[in-house]
Amino acid sequence: MSTTLPHSTTYRVKSNANLTVHSFVSPGPLFANATHIIELSDQLILVDGQFFAQYGQEFRELADSLKKPISRFYITHDHPDHYLGMGDAFQDVTVYALPEIKASILKAGPIELQEKKQKMGNLIAGQLAFPTATVEPGEEVIKGVKFIFERVLDTESPPTLVIKLPELGIIIAQDILYHNAHAFITGPIDNWKKVLYQIREDEAYDLILPGHGRPAEKADIDNAINYLEKAFSIYSNTTSPEQYKHELLEAYPSYAAEKLIDIYSPILFGGQSH
Ligand SMILES: [Zn+2]
Repeated sequence: MSTTLPHSTTYRVKSNANLTVHSFVSPGPLFANATHIIELSDQLILVDGQFFAQYGQEFRELADSLKKPISRFYITHDHPDHYLGMGDAFQDVTVYALPEIKASILKAGPIELQEKKQKMGNLIAGQLAFPTATVEPGEEVIKGVKFIFERVLDTESPPTLVIKLPELGIIIAQDILYHNAHAFITGPIDNWKKVLYQIREDEAYDLILPGHGRPAEKADIDNAINYLEKAFSIYSNTTSPEQYKHELLEAYPSYAAEKLIDIYSPILFGGQSH
């Protein structure tokens, strides 16, 4: 395909004898979407699918370069920047999601795809890679590696899937943590903050993989909590999305994914909570 957007960045996060974790992050102005590969000895398990088709393809190229089959592809939540991009590039993989996320994408995915395609044409994939399998909270050992799957409620998304790899001290938190990126805020942040504090206090884990931005450490959680508090305080003291955006950008001029503010602020300001 012809490359129209700047390239993504790949991080080799951590490894041991049994597994290696890789992160793939789209450029800052293009949402800084972070998606991940858990590389086991004989297979790959992928997490989240990007927004733009090009990054879905580049994520596939990264996976293919590891020369192992993709056994599972997890979608953590139903926001389009986590599943639209993978549509063309991952038609041949089995996609897993929490049951309610699977149902939501089956229903809303085609509408999202059509809308985004109308606005952005070929930057958006031509089809969806629908979830066909479900994941339930619990533990599973895959090829000798322990995975902990959790359903976390009421943070950036009503439900989201969190995947923990205790062997490497890694939490794949996705959009619970935005790392130096503007967060998608549509309502009260109290529980979201509570969950971030819980992750910060959990001594079994020291690497947190966000859904936007590069791999993070515990100190980055403090920044994310401060950001949420600042954003909510600006929101509480302004009456228009334009003024809100202006003040938020003034407070965080270097943060990635500025465009997210335009997408969520009408929801935030139109919502019941203001
Ligand atoms: Zn997101």
